[in-house]
Amino acid sequence: MQKIICIDPGHGGPDPGAVGAHLRESDINLRVSLLLRDALVRSGVRVLMTRETDVLPLKSGTIGEDLAYRARLANTAGADLYVSWHYDSSGNPSTDGVSVWVHPSQKGKRTEQWAVAISTSIATAASQKDRGVNFGDFQVLRDTAMDAVLIEGGFISCRAEEARMADRAFLLQQAEGAAAALCGILGTAYVPPSSGAPTCDKQAAEDVIALYSQLAKRATPAMVVAANFAANAVRRAAGIPITTDLGKPTAEAADRMEAFTQAVWHMSTPQVQECHHIAADALRAL
Ligand SMILES: [Zn+2]
Repeated sequence: MQKIICIDPGHGGPDPGAVGAHLRESDINLRVSLLLRDALVRSGVRVLMTRETDVLPLKSGTIGEDLAYRARLANTAGADLYVSWHYDSSGNPSTDGVSVWVHPSQKGKRTEQWAVAISTSIATAASQKDRGVNFGDFQVLRDTAMDAVLIEGGFISCRAEEARMADRAFLLQQAEGAAAALCGILGTAYVPPSSGAPTCDKQAAEDVIALYSQLAKRATPAMVVAANFAANAVRRAAGIPITTDLGKPTAEAADRMEAFTQAVWHMSTPQVQECHHIAADALRAL
């Protein structure tokens, strides 16, 4: 049976998590988690996300209730593994590196061994210090019914590591490193990203471009630019000529457009999902 991994991008919405000089932990958690989702789906793993946009999964309530809700989502879906992704902060600005946390009750059990493998795989893929396993009585580790790990992907309080977090290539290395380890844990063959320029099915591309044009018809001027930018990324990948280039969207419009591609992703066929991926990747890379 196809295994299910629940990916939980930590914090979100009104809760930014740790804040660095330039970045908010909640944003980086989401970016790396979406890349991890893509890598696992490519490898044939079913993925359940606790959030795919900048929100708290539980629309109203306390942070504690939100954390309980995230665990409940995974429990209800019968997930095989729960992976919460965070970045850490320290009073010592030179502290850096990746670590993976498990619940103290899992000491000496397979979850601890898996956490070692995940930490090493991320650290190797992204050339980071491997801080190994830590034990913590975190709510998402406590409330989940399945094996659960919490990745601390680096220290946002370390200037050099924070600078790397702003780079999509670094987050991609971390996500692919985690995916390779997680596939090994699930006994699934890890499928690395295909080399070369992205390509997509021409009919699917035309459908996606039509959807973005429809959106642009009733959109604000900033969103018209973002929709055009997304459509052109898909045109480029599908070899469809670009007739109108409105340039780069604002960061805010790019974020909104990316959220739109995430929202419709679930309703789409795999061919169309591939096109939305290409658009989202282009928007994220801005
Ligand atoms: Zn956090």
